[in-house]
Amino acid sequence: MKKDIQKIDLDESIDTCPSCGYTDGFHTSFKIQEGTINIILICPQCHARFDPGWEMEKLPRVRKLGH
Ligand SMILES: [Zn+2]
Repeated sequence: MKKDIQKIDLDESIDTCPSCGYTDGFHTSFKIQEGTINIILICPQCHARFDPGWEMEKLPRVRKLGH
């Protein structure tokens, strides 16, 4: 199942899915591009994907895949 990643604005309690209302938090996934890692939140109930705009750089032990 491939769904578009939606931008999301979060309030102080990052535990409620805006799509289905699930309230027990998110799974996390990571998208690596150009040495920057984007954290993607995935709702465990409806599997909607959200990009909260969190980025990390220069993480140790992350290798480039492929060449
Ligand atoms: Zn949901």
